[in-house]
Amino acid sequence: MLNNINLSAQIHDAALQFGYESCGIIKLSDISGYRKYLDERIAKIPESKKIYGFYDAFDKLEANYPWAKAIVVCALWLGKYKFPASLEGKWGKYFILAPVTEPKSDAYKNMKLFEAWLSENNIKAESSPMLPLRHAAVYAGLGIFRKNNFFYGKNGSFYDLKAYLIDKECEYKNNCDIKPCAENCKLCQDACRTRALCAPYTMNPMLCLSFITTFGGGAVPDGFTEADMGSWICGCDDCQDVCPHNQDHDWSSGEDFCDYNYVSELEELLQPENILSASDETLINKVIPKTAQHIKPEDCNILRVDAARVLRVSKSN
Ligand code: SF4
Ligand code: SF4
Repeated sequence: MLNNINLSAQIHDAALQFGYESCGIIKLSDISGYRKYLDERIAKIPESKKIYGFYDAFDKLEANYPWAKAIVVCALWLGKYKFPASLEGKWGKYFILAPVTEPKSDAYKNMKLFEAWLSENNIKAESSPMLPLRHAAVYAGLGIFRKNNFFYGKNGSFYDLKAYLIDKECEYKNNCDIKPCAENCKLCQDACRTRALCAPYTMNPMLCLSFITTFGGGAVPDGFTEADMGSWICGCDDCQDVCPHNQDHDWSSGEDFCDYNYVSELEELLQPENILSASDETLINKVIPKTAQHIKPEDCNILRVDAARVLRVSKSN
């Protein structure tokens, strides 16, 4: 019978074996500071409260999962995959490369294998939308927050985080020696077209293009023009792409996220002119899954709104 120290190490090692770059395990109580963080964020940007749908749910975490004893959090570095150059500046890299957006990808299959491993080892594990992923990852020592609010691991900010509540009293903290942002750097803030990133560690989600192009229905916010939104159709990577801690990565090299035919067909389909002419059926079956639940199938017209704006802007240039 394994004791919990060995079990913690075994869970960690299994996660790495299934392709995660890092894994940590924290107690539920470790994330109690998240409420204070949310309160501080809402105090700075009061209108953001309406989009923190999990604000109230967070307090119910222990009540809703009374069996949960710890949180396993895993980080998958998306930079290990290639990203098509023709989608740069149009689609956020997360949407193209996150395992959950493509069940045929090896990353998705590995995630399922890890879940099967947990189950085979009698570990009850459940993911929950109530879990603050970035905070859990920082508490587990997988990385730090930078001034653009993103989680950074040792290879920059392009990570997919996955967390599970488990029914075992485990703990596995990593030593994180990543240096914080340079005091005078504000490249990310300067790169933000809509000034959503209005101060270090402070972002107005209502003005963020990742929100505007998805949950926000594609509507250009007051005080901005279509041209201000650049060529983003879904998501925005500006404040990550400009960051010196992401600079030395070449997205044209690395592993294929999925097989070649899949990627080339998708690359074609995700161009603005093809989104605009695609049927609802094609958008719902092939494009909506790439929005990682940020756009509901019944709202697929949001994609056309975003694509039409991008085409208008490119024609006027
Ligand atoms: S994702 Fe884009 S819009 Fe949002 S804060 Fe970063 S740069 Fe600004
Ligand atoms: S661009 Fe500069 S300030 Fe912004 S996250 Fe990167 S290092 Fe930090």
